Amino acid sequence: MNNTDVSNLLTTIADLMDIKGENFFKIRAYRLAAQAIHDSPEDISILVEEHRLKDLAGIGDAIAKKITEFVKTGRLTYFERLSEEIPLQILSLLQIPGLGPKKVATLFRVLNIDTIESLKQACIEGKLRDIDGFGEITERNILRGIQLLERTSGRSLLYHAYNNGQHYLQYIRECSKVIQADLAGSLRRMKETIGDIDIIVASEDPDTIMDHFINYPKIKQILVQGKTKTSVLLIDSIQVDLRVVPIQSYGAALQYFTGSKEHNVTVRGLAVRQGFKLNEYGLFEKNTDKFLSGRTEQDIYNNLGLQFIPPEIRENRGEIEAAKTKTLPRLLEEKDVKGDLHIHSTYSDGSNSISDMVEACAKRGYEYVGITDHSQSLKIARGLDGEAIQAKKEEIKRLNETAPLHVFCGTECDIKSDGTLDYPNDVLGLFDYVGIGIHTGFNMTKDEATERIIQGMKHPSVTFLAHPTCRMIGHREGFDLDMDQIFETAVDANTALEINSFPDRLDLNDIQVKRGKELGVRFIIGTDAHAKEHLEYMKFGVATARRGWLEKEDVINTVDLTTIEEFFKKGRKENG
Ligand SMILES: [Zn+2]
Ligand SMILES: [Zn+2]
Repeated sequence: MNNTDVSNLLTTIADLMDIKGENFFKIRAYRLAAQAIHDSPEDISILVEEHRLKDLAGIGDAIAKKITEFVKTGRLTYFERLSEEIPLQILSLLQIPGLGPKKVATLFRVLNIDTIESLKQACIEGKLRDIDGFGEITERNILRGIQLLERTSGRSLLYHAYNNGQHYLQYIRECSKVIQADLAGSLRRMKETIGDIDIIVASEDPDTIMDHFINYPKIKQILVQGKTKTSVLLIDSIQVDLRVVPIQSYGAALQYFTGSKEHNVTVRGLAVRQGFKLNEYGLFEKNTDKFLSGRTEQDIYNNLGLQFIPPEIRENRGEIEAAKTKTLPRLLEEKDVKGDLHIHSTYSDGSNSISDMVEACAKRGYEYVGITDHSQSLKIARGLDGEAIQAKKEEIKRLNETAPLHVFCGTECDIKSDGTLDYPNDVLGLFDYVGIGIHTGFNMTKDEATERIIQGMKHPSVTFLAHPTCRMIGHREGFDLDMDQIFETAVDANTALEINSFPDRLDLNDIQVKRGKELGVRFIIGTDAHAKEHLEYMKFGVATARRGWLEKEDVINTVDLTTIEEFFKKGRKENG
């Protein structure tokens, strides 16, 4: 029994409860507990043994009791009862983008559908359109969702790959025969989804490295074991490939296996035109095979007359041309970020109090933080009404007398279907700044959705648009929007666009960010943290910004406290 087993069980229970139609907060408690256990560096059996389960964020009495039963007996009565009511195979349907638990429950009740295959067949035969609450559009969307799933399956979220990769890398570096070791592949480029994890090691003793590699405790299966390349499958179902190379080829191998393929093809072509040959062993003179460089990536790029190109932008989207003319952007770094402006507290659906969140932000060295709870109509997430806003303002005012950083009272106000905001103007005026976002009503045409968002962005009180497309990676495709129109509105109305750092959002994505920057958009990077632990997600937002070529100047929450206060005020005056 390990942490992954327990975390998976809790997630399964949450999914089953979701289909059953249980209370939102009860379900969310299971999800937060699953995540806390997944992320905990401590072994679950030790936590149970020492009665320390409740030290983890979000684990209360009821869940702690269930975990204890499961860890001690290998069974959980509650889960067994639940899975008698709802067949487990039905959970596979929840992976389909655009298909939520309510609809899954209906499909099971009405058509007895409990597999993706039978659902696909029913869609093709047009059986869904006559069910109450479905219709032809839904039927088509579900079929599209199935196709999307078929395309993305087998890939992991960046967040999962990153945690697994960093952990493994740390373990490898403990081996004394390692001269140098790094992640490569799409994980080093911080792509939003990752196929498998690549690790490159420089060593003169590959045998010892390979022995150490396969002794990693989180391996489920060894796939290939060789002298210079070994592949394993982790318990978390991610494949890891390790390659060991001599130190003089380390940079060449790292460059080669980092990719992207498109980037490498262009770089190799450039090498050939200059009379060189480039491969994973090094850069060579083409005619004489004389070794020119390979020890570091920097050497190789410089020998080709290029600036060093940061991994995140190696996508053949103009970076090679820019490196040639020494005009690469100075990419944003995580340390440039001075505050997090998208955070939830217990006032709405967060699991930590404002003061806990503020304390955790202070530890990260921020100069300011903004608490943005949901607005009134979002009942499912306990959106705030007038009275609660006053209480929140009072609490923040008191906190600001002693807090080591400045706390702003913000909101994440819903944009209603007609494009108006969920609070009247006088209420919006109570906040230091206003973020807006959509959380309900996703069935809209491209024009309708674009218009809805643009109306919201033009409101004079609005500072930024949260998670602009509303996609959930692997679950919901997000609005099909006229992005250029949104970018133009952002510039005209002085409304920033968010890069949401939450692992399954990363919204806007890298390509949209790059296009937005070209059109003059300014961005904020927010975590959308619903618990202290989520503040860590900032690095994924920053990575997305880097993949979109953003520099410090493009991101509003890199400025100091005085400047951001001016920005909040200025936005209002110019527009209002
Ligand atoms: Zn939101
Ligand atoms: Zn939010």
